[in-house]
Amino acid sequence: MTKQPSQADIVIAGAGFAGLALAIALRQGLGADFTVVVADPMLAQPAREDARASAIAAGARRLLETIDVWGAVAAGAQPVLDMVVTDSRLGDAVKPVFLTFAGEVEAGEPFAHMVENGPLMAALASKAREVGVTLCASAIDSFAVAGERVSVQCADGALTAALLIAADGARSRLRELAGIATFGWSYDQSAIVCTVAHEREHGGRAEEHFLPAGPFAILPLTGRRSSIVWTEDTGEAGRIVALPEDLFHEELEQRFGLHLGDIAVEGPRRVHPLGLTVARAFVADRLALVGDAAHVIHPIAGQGLNLGLRDVAALAETIVDAARLGLDVGAAHVLERYQRWRRFDTMAMGIATDGLNRLFSNRSDALRLMRDVGLGLVDRLPGLKRLFIREAAGLVGDVPKLLRGEVL
Ligand SMILES: Cc1cc2nc3c(=O)[nH]c(=O)nc-3n(C[C@H](O)[C@H](O)[C@H](O)COP(=O)(O)OP(=O)(O)OC[C@H]3O[C@@H](n4cnc5c(N)ncnc54)[C@H](O)[C@@H]3O)c2cc1C
Repeated sequence: MTKQPSQADIVIAGAGFAGLALAIALRQGLGADFTVVVADPMLAQPAREDARASAIAAGARRLLETIDVWGAVAAGAQPVLDMVVTDSRLGDAVKPVFLTFAGEVEAGEPFAHMVENGPLMAALASKAREVGVTLCASAIDSFAVAGERVSVQCADGALTAALLIAADGARSRLRELAGIATFGWSYDQSAIVCTVAHEREHGGRAEEHFLPAGPFAILPLTGRRSSIVWTEDTGEAGRIVALPEDLFHEELEQRFGLHLGDIAVEGPRRVHPLGLTVARAFVADRLALVGDAAHVIHPIAGQGLNLGLRDVAALAETIVDAARLGLDVGAAHVLERYQRWRRFDTMAMGIATDGLNRLFSNRSDALRLMRDVGLGLVDRLPGLKRLFIREAAGLVGDVPKLLRGEVL
């Protein structure tokens, strides 16, 4: 860990995926004279255990490739070759398939890869060190703007910068200190997450079973393993995750089925409460929000981290362009460009995932009929499916350079 300097060009609060990816992109784009400090108390802890794996969409993978992080995780990344969506009840012996995606965004480029969170975090932290990002193991407690600098207070002392980035996660303290209100609600649903080993090959197939309590996703990992994201009402999720091993296995098998042979849970099971939170503004005076600090969405489409990496791509490009023109990177007009770039896409994704969750996580027969007809129609329209795939891959609209695989 580096000693905290008293000045930097940019200070980033939070060494999660978004904070570290942004720090790396900025150093690579602006060179060794541009100082970037990342502060996070978790940097003092041994590697964090995270039972989750993330679906990394094609655009996010291009970003990770361009900042030279993908190579370190590629061997453990499982390409998602196709996806099936079913709509069924818990006791249904056969789960009818309503939608299938066989997916490449370009020839030879799968629409997503599954990557375990632990190795991805380790690869980002290692690259950040390699490119000279200053890592400080302390929390940012407060900040104040004075003229063209923002003064940041940490446990290790004060430092000033032209811009402070809040990459401090869903319960962002910096967002709160800046007085930025949020929009959203809790779903009263939680996701049980674990890894399952199975007898047969999954063939790179992802499955999403829409059950009345919420989606049950089986996401392929390397080596006859899958990552499970299993949504239940919060009370029920707490009960299930606390069951003894044999009873947990029974509940799991009832939803997973027997198509991949015998299954066994590997490693920990965890439960994550789910909600929607979107910040009403993504910027304030010398402050910009990225990742979960700006938005938290339902994992129904596996898009939260992907959205965060889209913020990273847009903000890095905005800052690099401004710095190359000799502009103040924390100036209001620079931050406004970032906000304009990201807010519509974020709101659209927030509304889409919220709508999908409402449409599927219920017991209404009328809604079931409507959604099954709708899914059946989508399944018969290859052009629409292709558009969905490119949208989910982050390759529609005004796509920032890093998501196109271009260096800054
Ligand atoms: C069950 C589940 C499954 C998911 N699956 C997917 C998926 O398949 N694909 C996908 O794209 N997304 C997925 N997501 C979403 C994804 O995990 C998150 O969007 C992502 O982890 C957020 O990263 P982040 O860097 O923004 O925030 P975080 O990872 O929360 O990092 C925030 C960091 O800030 C630090 N911090 C907090 N306060 C301070 C402070 N005051 N000062 C300094 N540091 C501070 C914290 O210690 C932490 O390290 C899933 C989410 C859930 C719950």
